[in-house]
Amino acid sequence: MESQIHQIHQQLVSEEITCLSLVQERLRLLNTNKHATVNSLLEKSAIELAKKVDAKITSGQKIGLLEGIPFGIKDVYMLQGTYTSASSNFLKKYKSPYTATAIQKLIDAGAIPIVKENCDSFGHGSSSENTIFGAVKNAINPALVGGGSSGGSAVNVAKDLTVFSIGGDTGGSVRQPAGYNKVYGLKPTYGRISRFGLMAYASSTDCVGPIAKSIEDIRIVLNEISGKDTKDQTTYSSEKISKEAISTASEIKTVGYFKNFLETEVIDPKIKLDFFATIDKIKEKGIVVKALDFFEPDTLVSTYYTLAMAETASNLSRLDGTNYGHRIEGDTLKDSYSITRSENFSEETKRRIVGGNQVLSQGFSDEIYLKGLSVRDQIAKSFENDFKEVDIIISPVTPNTPPKIGASLKDPLAMYLSDAYTVGFSLGQLPTLTVPQGTQTGLQVTAAKNNDELVFKFANFLKDII
Ligand code: GLN
Repeated sequence: MESQIHQIHQQLVSEEITCLSLVQERLRLLNTNKHATVNSLLEKSAIELAKKVDAKITSGQKIGLLEGIPFGIKDVYMLQGTYTSASSNFLKKYKSPYTATAIQKLIDAGAIPIVKENCDSFGHGSSSENTIFGAVKNAINPALVGGGSSGGSAVNVAKDLTVFSIGGDTGGSVRQPAGYNKVYGLKPTYGRISRFGLMAYASSTDCVGPIAKSIEDIRIVLNEISGKDTKDQTTYSSEKISKEAISTASEIKTVGYFKNFLETEVIDPKIKLDFFATIDKIKEKGIVVKALDFFEPDTLVSTYYTLAMAETASNLSRLDGTNYGHRIEGDTLKDSYSITRSENFSEETKRRIVGGNQVLSQGFSDEIYLKGLSVRDQIAKSFENDFKEVDIIISPVTPNTPPKIGASLKDPLAMYLSDAYTVGFSLGQLPTLTVPQGTQTGLQVTAAKNNDELVFKFANFLKDII
């Protein structure tokens, strides 16, 4: 798939289409779509912005590449004046008082936000069923889940309802739904894009992540939204990635994969077979492929969930009905807190808050939380050593194909285990891209920290050889 951003840009500049008709058509498609991807439409502001782009074009002014391009936003990002519900009862009527840095940068470049997208509540989930707006349905087979937590965003891109969408990835929430719906989804190096205005789930792994149908569109969006931000102290400044730089992968000599990801019982045999077929194609191109040792998927999942639950319990403690969201009064102040939180959070979110508070509590934190931190350090160290040996690591995105709608809700543990291949890269804070090739749910391409450019190079190379 070629770049839709370039294609639409050409159509706008040559006046083959108007921005208004483009935006109106996407709004109509979003409004009538049957995949439950929409939490709220941004009709009024989108139409106003589209008219401005048209006026600029008809008066002969130049427009930027992103100007007039309609995009979607996972409903966990602040966009001033719009509902930002996190797909929760708690914030159903909450309006953003300010705009997230990443979103503001896109708006400054002229891109047009058209929809706040359905997702797992507060990013908690891998299927986009943990939402008050109804389960997101898979773009390819609507009986299956859309994946999560950025399910609405991935489905919108896959169905051409948005040109690109901005998801959020804490433990795989961009990469996994991208894989389930056969589109590209990037989790950049932690800190490359400001998280200011993204509702915090697990702050130590939260990343802003673009989803699109081509590598080129991911590149364009990433370049626009990256950079240091005084409002997010974890950010750093990065060089733009040029189209030329990523057109060759000749410096990639060695690729690794994790043996134990493939040796587990739980992997779908077809995913395994397809993965090894891809490995063969890579070898045929003269690249050395190495099987690497890594932590067991179970260890990765338990480490990730220990830390993510601890962080989300702490981050969500601010939601008690005092400052934000839907307050339910009880007889005493304590009752009000407890009823507000019990009634407004979903079962899954409550499970995480309870689990998180448990691992942080006195008597448990040394045994569990601190141990989690120490395993995370070992994971980071292991990646450091791996990248002394290999340039790129590839992995399936998920051990299995998307489950039927309803199945994950009955078995949360199975859902957590579906994150087995994504969470390790999050704990390592590494740049990882889902490419919609190689297995039924795609492949993850990962490079060393801050080496996002290499990920793009290898993804381009894969596109040509698979
Ligand atoms: N599925 C993982 C979780 O529920 C990842 C979610 C995410 O990245 N937001 O924690």
